Amino acid sequence: MSRFWSPLVSRLSPYVPGEQPKIANLTKLNTNENPYGPSPKVLEAIRAEVGDRLRLYPDPEGTALKQAIASYHGLQTNQVFVGNGSDEVLAFIFQALFQHNEPILFPDVTYSFYPVYCGLYEIDYRLIPLAEDFSIRIADYAQPNGGIIFPNPNAPTGRALALAEIEALLQANTDSVVVIDEAYVDFGAESAIPLVNRYPNLLVSQTLSKSRSLAGLRVGFAVGHPELIEALIRVKDSFNSYPLDRLAIVGAAASFADEPYFQQTRQAVMASREALVAEMAKLGFETIPSAANFIFSRHPAQDAAKIAASLRERGVIVRHFRKPRIDQYLRITVGTPAQNATLIAALAEILVPAGGL
Ligand SMILES: *Cc1c(COP(=O)(O)O)cnc(C)c1O
Repeated sequence: MSRFWSPLVSRLSPYVPGEQPKIANLTKLNTNENPYGPSPKVLEAIRAEVGDRLRLYPDPEGTALKQAIASYHGLQTNQVFVGNGSDEVLAFIFQALFQHNEPILFPDVTYSFYPVYCGLYEIDYRLIPLAEDFSIRIADYAQPNGGIIFPNPNAPTGRALALAEIEALLQANTDSVVVIDEAYVDFGAESAIPLVNRYPNLLVSQTLSKSRSLAGLRVGFAVGHPELIEALIRVKDSFNSYPLDRLAIVGAAASFADEPYFQQTRQAVMASREALVAEMAKLGFETIPSAANFIFSRHPAQDAAKIAASLRERGVIVRHFRKPRIDQYLRITVGTPAQNATLIAALAEILVPAGGL
């Protein structure tokens, strides 16, 4: 706190990202990065862009990337917005499209950046409790609101909602913007993108950080009705005209041009996830059905915080949230088969002496 801070800054409670430890030889399963590298074609495109051209500003609209995304998803370019990670895209969405007449709605257990944006933009929100099994009940969102947002699959539970449920929500909620945050959709859920031509209040955000292995490049996007996209462009151009640099634009565009690599790596992650869930079950863990590149698991006999601390001592980092309803769960990123084996071996060591089996 400083007397120079604005009152708003004093009231903020910023998002706390999962740690990026600087220790060698860690098995890092805490921030849902992809265990496989980006497509070689992405690296090639980035290398080709490195040169004298970097003295020039990038295209402020990232047109080449918008075109790649639009053609990949069968949309028009004016239905696409691109930004510096989907976190930035989400920030613009909160500022541009959530109204202030009623609270916005999101689940009690969800991406913890949403309340942070509400604090930054002074937007009221109401938490809608997930069902006992951590599913989102669409009927609970039938109430006056200034907007609705949730991830599908949800984070940190991994549970997905069927597209028909999302369409039912859109049919019941036509007067405010509905945002589906599809950060993990490529790992087994149905995208709502095919609905954007029919629902002018639907905005779908995605990221290249997870399924396209580009967390370090910082690229996210949103698709929806051109009027919603225009609102985001207005905010962007009042904040930073060039959120995506030259390397990000060409690298991200190249990712959409390498479909075989994308399919191969996402299938590998999904297969490893199912194998990991089975191994965890043998150790007594209960796991929420996951359509994401992470699992959300609890052990009925062992404290989650203690397991996370013991894993850390063994060089395996997972995420534990000290929050109501979920403080006995661990969120574990699906790694390579070798990383998952390291995790399972460490867990077996931790659980056996404690009588957890
Ligand atoms: C990872 C994540 C994002 C943000 O991804 P970026 O790296 O900023 O593109 C957004 N929403 C959810 C639910 C996430 O888990």
